[in-house]
Amino acid sequence: MPPRTLREKYLPSIASGERILAFAMTEDEVPGSWSSYMKTKAEIKGDKYLLNGRKTFITNAGVADIFIVFARLNLMEGARGIGMFIVERDFPGFHFDGEIPGLGVRALSWGTITLEDCEVPRENLIVSPPKAFSLAMDMFNTERIGNPSICNGIAQRAFDEALEFLVGRRDPRTGKSLLESYQGLQFKIAEMASLIRSSRLNVWHCAYLIQSGKPYVKEVQLAKLFANEMVRKICIDSMQLQGGYGYSAELFTEKLVRGGMFGGIGWGALEILKLRYISELMKEKGITS
Ligand SMILES: Cc1cc2nc3c(=O)[nH]c(=O)nc-3n(C[C@H](O)[C@H](O)[C@H](O)COP(=O)(O)OP(=O)(O)OC[C@H]3O[C@@H](n4cnc5c(N)ncnc54)[C@H](O)[C@@H]3O)c2cc1C
Repeated sequence: MPPRTLREKYLPSIASGERILAFAMTEDEVPGSWSSYMKTKAEIKGDKYLLNGRKTFITNAGVADIFIVFARLNLMEGARGIGMFIVERDFPGFHFDGEIPGLGVRALSWGTITLEDCEVPRENLIVSPPKAFSLAMDMFNTERIGNPSICNGIAQRAFDEALEFLVGRRDPRTGKSLLESYQGLQFKIAEMASLIRSSRLNVWHCAYLIQSGKPYVKEVQLAKLFANEMVRKICIDSMQLQGGYGYSAELFTEKLVRGGMFGGIGWGALEILKLRYISELMKEKGITS
């Protein structure tokens, strides 16, 4: 049998869902916003790389079979010294340290892994320095559109919950629903609907730009920024509109409030995206500081 390529070896089982993939960049000792300063190291030993380091906040850490791990091959070269490896869960030296109890979005297994002289075959270095880190950043730029899409879904459900409540809750003096009775509530619902609609249009616009090969990086950053702040506002408004029930942990809205917070942290923190957007804008306008 001829040797299988890495594509043949890994992609079919990942695509079919037979094996689950995780992406391990963030570390506990280095702020995730400065991942290019990562400390996880890779050294050559014989026909293997030995990886040492700890990765945290990793989605699917508890269940993934295969991890895309970023590790430093060259200590001197910052982002340009980082390589991208495929690490299998059962490679010697791989440890799953446990799940992190997340505040929301709990349908994923979120956790930490440690690599202790983890033995990785040489061919599993899938992207060598200096390209690996910048390639990952490019990939994030496209993949980041998933984040506002999730935020839109959470916001829509929070809106639906509030609307249903206001339709069902009656003013005892008239017997009419609160929604029919009070213009202040009607205004609030209309404002919420317009924010969600704007955020959806942002995502659709970005999808169109990506699909048609047009520049999209800044647009995706703006779509994420908008959605991250929008979903937090909508969830809190929804909670407020449902009064004491909204504050109760027994209602679904409580879950949405917790889940809605994640968007502004995952896939690049809000603040960092704002900085990136401004830096792109200044470059475009020829403004240097
Ligand atoms: C649900 C979820 C899933 C995740 N999944 C993965 C995954 O699968 N793989 C992975 O590798 N990582 C994952 N992460 C990690 C995520 O990428 C990081 O949490 C994120 O990049 C922020 O890094 P940090 O948590 O270390 O915060 P830090 O970088 O420590 O930042 C702390 C705060 O300081 C702010 N800050 C930092 N620098 C600046 C600055 N220069 N100016 C202004 N403000 C600044 C940040 O915006 C943030 O508010 C996930 C996170 C979450 C919440």
